[in-house]
Amino acid sequence: MRFADIYGHEDVKQRLRAMADSRRMPHALMIEGAEGSAKFALARAFVQYIHCTNRRDGDSCGVCPECRLSDSLNHIDTFISFPVVKRSGRGDTSDDYLPDFREFVKDCPFMDFEEWLRRLDNINAQPMIYVSESSALIRKIAIKSRRSEFKTVLMWLPERLMENAANKLLKIVEEPASDTVIVMVSNNSRQVLPTIYSRTQRIVVHRYDNDEIEDIIRSRGSVSADDAALIARLSAGNINEALRLMSVSKERQKFLDLFKELMRKAYLRKIIDLRQWSSDLAALGREPQIQFYDYCARMLRENFVYNLKVDSLTFLSKDEMEFSANFARFITNLNVIQLLEAFSKAAADIAANGNAKIINFDVAIQVILLLKRDK
Ligand SMILES: [Zn+2]
Repeated sequence: MRFADIYGHEDVKQRLRAMADSRRMPHALMIEGAEGSAKFALARAFVQYIHCTNRRDGDSCGVCPECRLSDSLNHIDTFISFPVVKRSGRGDTSDDYLPDFREFVKDCPFMDFEEWLRRLDNINAQPMIYVSESSALIRKIAIKSRRSEFKTVLMWLPERLMENAANKLLKIVEEPASDTVIVMVSNNSRQVLPTIYSRTQRIVVHRYDNDEIEDIIRSRGSVSADDAALIARLSAGNINEALRLMSVSKERQKFLDLFKELMRKAYLRKIIDLRQWSSDLAALGREPQIQFYDYCARMLRENFVYNLKVDSLTFLSKDEMEFSANFARFITNLNVIQLLEAFSKAAADIAANGNAKIINFDVAIQVILLLKRDK
């Protein structure tokens, strides 16, 4: 990954380049920002730039052996660290999952976390970085670099360090080796252990704006200008979301169907059917349910806005628009806040491992009570 392969972010590239050029690199760097941005790609380009033996025009050359090894995440002086799941018969360090991770990064350069869960074969997993990984990193850093002048650590999602793992890592963050650069890439730096976070130099990477996302989507091919614009608006700056929307929108269609079913059956007070709906939704697994409730919240907001008849404010796809034409009138200033709260609480409860069927059914009951009824 070269800097030139990454769309935009010229200011961040300039900062990273300057650090390496001046050879005054921080021992620990935290590249942070919301999920669905080019953070990890920038971190990769930085590490490749550090190792490249033939830098030119402010970028790595892309062709020297160091670049080739870096590009495929195979450089022996770059230690890659990321969250994994504990599974019987398999270790729990990053090295145990490295081939899968390399594939993942190749396919998803913007690091779609949901896709990583899918690759771990468990959409309900809560992958973590375990203490055994910290021990492995400490061992690796203690050894002299093999090819490059510098050793680099590329850590994805330090917020997923188990507490004992983070405490163990403190040692190398506090008393770093002078030839080692630790680059952490965080979606949620507030969850990083403060003792680690406070010892890092930080670079904030913002999400792309709508125009930039539209550009990226269009450069990837077969999307009409209208669709690219709608996808850019719907994705709210999350490039992974935009790419998901761009690929077959099966999930989205499923969520819309579940949302319609909930609203229709709640309106008709079909309690038995709603119990079934609760089970069907629970069967999707934890992460998809959380996404579904996010989707519900978005649909509610959009339908509330729909009533204001300000076209430019609605971010609905064609199918959603068709449903909303009849549905929006049931969402008013008398119920919208409570409904949003119900969805948001459900998402939080499911994230906290609550009983999904009960939580979903509880939401259904609240929708029955809150939905505006025709007189
Ligand atoms: Zn090179």
